[in-house]
Amino acid sequence: MSTYLDYNASAPIDLRVLDCMVDVYKNSIGNADSRTHGFGEKARSVVEDARKQVATLLGISSDEIFFTSGATESNNIAIRGLVDYGKKTGKMHIITTAIEHKAVLETVKHLSEDGFEVDFVKPGLNGRVNANDILDKVREDTLLVSVMHVNNETGIIQPVKEIGEVLEQKEVLFHVDATQSCGKLVDELRSIKYNMLSFSAHKLMGPQGIGVLVLRKKRYKLPPVKNIMYGGQQEHGIRPGTIPVALVAGCGMACEIANKEYKDNATKASDIKKAILQELNESGIEYSVNGDPEFCVDTTINVSFKGVSSEALMISTKQFCGVSNGSACTSKNYSPSYVLVAMGIDTDTIESSLRISWGAGTDKDEAVEGIKEFLAVAKQFNS
Ligand code: PMP
Repeated sequence: MSTYLDYNASAPIDLRVLDCMVDVYKNSIGNADSRTHGFGEKARSVVEDARKQVATLLGISSDEIFFTSGATESNNIAIRGLVDYGKKTGKMHIITTAIEHKAVLETVKHLSEDGFEVDFVKPGLNGRVNANDILDKVREDTLLVSVMHVNNETGIIQPVKEIGEVLEQKEVLFHVDATQSCGKLVDELRSIKYNMLSFSAHKLMGPQGIGVLVLRKKRYKLPPVKNIMYGGQQEHGIRPGTIPVALVAGCGMACEIANKEYKDNATKASDIKKAILQELNESGIEYSVNGDPEFCVDTTINVSFKGVSSEALMISTKQFCGVSNGSACTSKNYSPSYVLVAMGIDTDTIESSLRISWGAGTDKDEAVEGIKEFLAVAKQFNS
C-alpha cells in the first residue's frame, strides 16, 4: 500500500467531517437564502453555526468570515477586490513576495498590467523573507502588502507577525494567505494583525471546494474590498452564488476539530518529522534540506537527494508513497520550482528536490514504512 505524504497539496477528509456533511445533505436541504420556508431557515442555521466554528478557530468575530470556493478565490477577492479603491485613492502600489502561491502571484501580475506597481520581495537561502525588506518598500501610495504565513513547498514560516505589527500603525492593508497554517499554527495565527486572510478547508482535512476569506473590521468597518463576481447578495455581496451548505458545514466541522485537537496534532507531527529525519540520516544517502529547519513547520520537509532526479525517483517510488516536487498547481509542465529558484538554490539541487508533507491523519508507522521503502529505491539512484 502506498502512504500518502502530500498533505500540502490536499489533506484527506476527516471522516467526522464527512459524516457531518452527509447528515447535512440528507437533512438540511434547500437554499440558505430562502426566506419563505423552514427548510431555508434550517440551512441558514447550519451555515451560521459553521461560521461560528471558523470564527472560534481564528479567534475573531463571525461577521468577519466570508465563505468562498477556496483559497484561490479568497486571494483573488482580497487583491482584485481592492482595484476600485486603489484607483480612487491613488494607492496603486502592492508589495508581495516571490514565493507566494500562484493564486497571489498571477493575480498581482494581472494588476500590474492594469496600472498597479508590484514589488516582489525574495527570500534568503533560508526560505524566509526578511520583514524589513518588505517594510522598507512601504510608500505613501502603498495599497496592499500580501505575504503567505507558511510556504506550501518548503514549509517555511514567514515573518507575518512582525510585518502585521508594523503595518497596523499605517494606512496599508495586509493580506495573509494562511492556507498552509490554518488549523495548525492556531495560536500564532490568532496573534497576527491582518486585515484579510485566506484559506481552503481541504488543507485542514475539510472538503475540497470551500474556503474562507476573512475581512477584519477596523473601527467597525470592513476593508474596502468589493466583489469581483456579480450576482446575488450572498455573503453580503462579497461572494455571490448559492451557498454550498454541506461544504460550509464540513469547513466548520474541520475548524472545530482542529480547534480541539491542534495541540495533540502538533506533537504527533513533530514525532513524525523526527522519525522521517532519522530514516534519512540512517539511510546513508547524501541529502540536504531546503530552507532553514529552525523556521520550518513540523508537517513538511523539502529535501534534495544529491545527483538524483526527483522526477525519476517519484515515478519509481509511486507504489510506496505519494510525495511531490513543487506545487500541484504548477505541475502541468515540468519547470524548476520558482520558490526554490527565488531562494537562490542551484539548479541541480532543485532538480533533485522533493516535498514530503503529512498531517493529522497520518499514521507514524505507515509514514516510516513508506519512507523506508522510498529510501531503499533512492539509495539505488544515489549509488
Ligand atoms: N495558497 C497556498 C499557500 C496554497 O498552498 C494553496 C493550495 N496549494 C492555495 C493558496 C490555493 O488553494 P486552492 O487550490 O484550494 O484554491
